[in-house]
Amino acid sequence: MDQRIKSFAEDHIDELKKDIKDLCAIPSVLSDPAPQAPFGEECRRALRFGGKLCERYGFKTTDYDNYVIAADFDQDLPRYLDILGHTDVVPAGEGWSVTEPFKVIEKDGRLYGRGTSDDKGPLLCALYAMRAIKESAIPLKRGVRIIMGSDEETGSIDIGKYYEKEEEAECTFSPDAEFPLINIEKGMFRGDLSACASCEGEGVELVSMTAGVATNAVPNRARAEFLGTSRQMLAAALEKLKEKVPVDYQIYDDREIMIIGESAHASTPEKGVNAGLALLMLLSYLPMADNRRNSLLGMVPKLFPYGVYDGRGIGIDMTDREGLSLTATLDLFNVDEKGMSFTFDSRVPLCATEDNCLLTARRYIEEAGFTFDSPGMIPVHYVPGDSDFVKKLLNAYQDVTGLPGRAIGIGGGTYVHDLKNGVAFGAVLPGIDTRMHGADEFMPVDNLITAVEVYAQAIIDICG
Ligand SMILES: [Zn+2]
Repeated sequence: MDQRIKSFAEDHIDELKKDIKDLCAIPSVLSDPAPQAPFGEECRRALRFGGKLCERYGFKTTDYDNYVIAADFDQDLPRYLDILGHTDVVPAGEGWSVTEPFKVIEKDGRLYGRGTSDDKGPLLCALYAMRAIKESAIPLKRGVRIIMGSDEETGSIDIGKYYEKEEEAECTFSPDAEFPLINIEKGMFRGDLSACASCEGEGVELVSMTAGVATNAVPNRARAEFLGTSRQMLAAALEKLKEKVPVDYQIYDDREIMIIGESAHASTPEKGVNAGLALLMLLSYLPMADNRRNSLLGMVPKLFPYGVYDGRGIGIDMTDREGLSLTATLDLFNVDEKGMSFTFDSRVPLCATEDNCLLTARRYIEEAGFTFDSPGMIPVHYVPGDSDFVKKLLNAYQDVTGLPGRAIGIGGGTYVHDLKNGVAFGAVLPGIDTRMHGADEFMPVDNLITAVEVYAQAIIDICG
């Protein structure tokens, strides 16, 4: 590592901490639009404040209609590297114990507060990296530009606006995830299965069921109302279910129950306990009436067996040459007196095609007696791990941290999903959970220094 960078990062940590505190004091959560504030006043205030910091350190800025502010290292250099971060944050939420969400404090070597690690802290690390290079008078041949968005958490309309006006740079990284580097984001394939089949009112029937709040989340609650059951009958079946799957339950009366599982992001369904699928499993322990509606309900766990996350029930299990496997999870459940509908979320690897996903799933689902519908597939985001750009970033990371650098694939999407040559790069070091989006979000101070050093080294290696 360049020693000038190291001393700069260490000598300026107090200033960096102060800038992070000030930026995090602005509660830039999405709110109603106002004039010149498409994501609300606070989002604009945070964006402007970020822009002012760039100006203060000598970088000229361009405002893109209050959606995005960009800051150039040197406007006279040909644009080559973009760094994409954001100044908006998710809502504070409940459960903060170390500090108030928008009042950053330092405790045990960490900065606590909303935005310290997602993404205000890392964004300012990138700014300090540019500063380190400028103030150490290290010359660059190619331009580097920080692009600050203000709507990453709620739809990324911001960068859509930016790229309507500007070309994508040769290379882009986003300091909005973890080190070492994410070069593959799986594609997405979602679909609905539905059927009309009325309740016939004889024997035991599932009158209604709801589970799930979002397509991208494993449901942690499932509610159901039955016909022809008793409290005892339900309790006996629920106890049997509990022997098979780690759920809890509540029985309200002879007919109504709730099953309690564990939520998880749809890209990592194995971390959850799917309450909806557990409820459908429960039906096999009840003397359900023999009719078409119940045989359809019985098909759903065959298509999406509880505890199976690879999509094999609908014929789409696959693993690509990078070792990434498809995941699939059924996340929305809706049954009423007239029929039923379910929605699944699948994250697909490099080898996924319309043929081996969409058409195959359609065949399985229609053969099981359901109508299938899908909004189509979103392609995989992939930057080759052996590209010059990725190699340079990983070398800078290894050089500064002494840790092994390798590119990884994930199921979720990041800020660079739609860019041709964009990767997520830092800023959180491996093995740390900084509780992004949760209560007591934090960023270790050492991690801030390291991030400044890695980003500065990467910029020098790529643009020097
Ligand atoms: Zn973020």
